Amino acid sequence: MGEKQINLGLIGWPLEHSLSPQIHQAALRELGLKGKYCLYAIENNGLREQAITDLLEHVANEKIQGLNVTLPYKQIVLSHMASLTPAAARIGAVNTIRLNKGLLQGENTDAAGFMNDLKELPVASKANTLILGAGGAARAVIFSLLEAGHLVTIAARDPQKAQAVANSFSCIAKVPIRVLPLESKALSAIKDDLDLLINATPLGMSPHKDTCAWPKILTMPKHACVYDLVYTPANTMLIQRAQLAGLPARSGLGMLVEQAALAFESWTKKTAPRSAMYQAAIDSIQKRNLR
Ligand code: NAP
Repeated sequence: MGEKQINLGLIGWPLEHSLSPQIHQAALRELGLKGKYCLYAIENNGLREQAITDLLEHVANEKIQGLNVTLPYKQIVLSHMASLTPAAARIGAVNTIRLNKGLLQGENTDAAGFMNDLKELPVASKANTLILGAGGAARAVIFSLLEAGHLVTIAARDPQKAQAVANSFSCIAKVPIRVLPLESKALSAIKDDLDLLINATPLGMSPHKDTCAWPKILTMPKHACVYDLVYTPANTMLIQRAQLAGLPARSGLGMLVEQAALAFESWTKKTAPRSAMYQAAIDSIQKRNLR
């Protein structure tokens, strides 16, 4: 009997900039597995619920073995899941769907993907951490930081949104989460006490390479490590400023590959070939000239 085809894919809208097909196809190729990773671009209109239901039906009947979920559907798919992993439930977002004992299970590999990649920076335990932004990615990052025992401050242009995020994590925060406006005056007062600064806004992302979430008029923190979730370009203005200030800094490319690797492992039960996946992401960025 022939080897079974592994059908994987991604739901979101729009999807043309996604690097996930290249990353996962490299993994399948490297392991000699027969399969494909398809983009399921579902337009965000009145037909989206039916389209999502139809696609999830293919997971339920094992025509599709695994799906990733990206914007704007990470929250919308929650109600379709029979179960959620603890991380997905607490974050309130799903980026990976698989069949578990015949039922749809939603996972969030962004959280563990971020934490695994953060190990590449010399971050102390109980790090005094500032997260810029309070959207979906910030929620995954905040969850994993709190689980690891770090101290969290959120700075966002809408402090009310940031406060709502802080409130939703209050039961797992050993020390209350602080909320600040994303403004130089507020950041200036705390910046030199920071151990870790994380950008979880899209500022700096190609083609808006000249934008930076850390205010331009403010000098960088004195001794913090810097992690930018943005990965196109790899060398964002924030990363460049951190490096100029002598701070250890890392882009979100490692997190992107790691969340993909964790999803791949969840679907295939095989160790993901991370180097091949990372190289595929770099090659794809270079081809698209997103550096
Ligand atoms: P999101 O849910 O839309 O949240 C974006 C956050 O950034 C919100 O708090 C938003 O504020 C804020 N923001 C947007 N534009 C801003 C501006 N001009 N000034 C100040 N704040 C601004 O998006 P997300 O999913 O969290 O993604 C955020 C970034 O992380 C994206 O660049 C994404 O590519 C990246 N990301 C990377 C990975 C990875 O694996 N490396 C994974 C996920 C996401 P409002 O709520 O006020 O609009």
